[in-house]
Amino acid sequence: LYMFNKQGFLSIRCLLEHQQAEKQPLIGEFYLIRAITREGDKWEITEKDLDIMDRIGKGNFGYVYKGYMRSRGSHVAIKMCKSDALTDQDEFLREAEILKQYRHHNIVEFIGVSQQAESIYIIMELMSGGDFLTFLRNKSIREKKYILSNMILDVAGGMDYLSSKDCVHRDLAARNCLIGEGKCVKISDFGMSRQLSEGEYQMSTVNKPLPIKWTAPEALHKGLYTCQSDVWSYGILLWETFSSGSTPYPGMDSKTAIEKLETGYRLPAPSGTPQPIYAMMLQCWEYNPQTRPRFSEIHSTLKSISHDLRAKNI
Ligand code: ADP
Repeated sequence: LYMFNKQGFLSIRCLLEHQQAEKQPLIGEFYLIRAITREGDKWEITEKDLDIMDRIGKGNFGYVYKGYMRSRGSHVAIKMCKSDALTDQDEFLREAEILKQYRHHNIVEFIGVSQQAESIYIIMELMSGGDFLTFLRNKSIREKKYILSNMILDVAGGMDYLSSKDCVHRDLAARNCLIGEGKCVKISDFGMSRQLSEGEYQMSTVNKPLPIKWTAPEALHKGLYTCQSDVWSYGILLWETFSSGSTPYPGMDSKTAIEKLETGYRLPAPSGTPQPIYAMMLQCWEYNPQTRPRFSEIHSTLKSISHDLRAKNI
């Protein structure tokens, strides 16, 4: 055991704890975590390479800081896991493991992992515009519709890429998208995402509470998460975009919202939503996941909608 570094040893303990609790052995996950934390790994970043600056956010496992990475010569975002609970650390690192597989201009870039004596850092590109939900709620910003439609087009581009890689995000929402240069939007927060195998993924336990109002009925009721359940969440993100970042199903608790959906109720269009965009929301909320459009289709339809809005200067 001591041939591995500290985290490797901890992960083995974690594996044993899970076995004792009669859960599925986590052998596969253990090797995945080893793969990103091995000494000399290309994703390993030394403490000396990082200067930690201002706090910019609060995540599930700890604070997020702006930092400077000397070897890269640029600012970065540093997400910290303050918990020394072994299962938390493994869950935290899972996001890094997922993110390192993807590179796309609409997915936040993973830079590496740094292991400190008492915590673990995930290093990512710095998204200077903050999260998309806060942007939408900022009432001083009265964006033209075509600017907003370009932003949701970015999200569709990232999701089209992820679905082509059989990755299911499972927590797509405005709060989990970040804004960079030129109002470019990138998808972030892969803490709940999973790689699909054999078509569909059954729900597994995660530390985070379920984002019920964003989650498709088949995922809520049967634990069936697919790219098509992400499409449902994308429809909710469209609604958030055109309602200035309101919380979906205003005035309704989650239980009532779920019940109403079963009777065929769907969120009404926020005032001023371009009609073709509301039509897309409704398609994303088709009860049958197979009848919902694919992300590739959403992306190309939105491209032309966005083009039209721009031409009309709406
Ligand atoms: P968690 O997955 O643990 O909930 P998030 O990824 O949502 O954490 O990060 C929490 C907050 O930190 C975000 O809402 C955002 O404000 C900020 N943040 C996270 N990553 C970045 C980043 N790459 N660039 C800028 N800010 C970020």
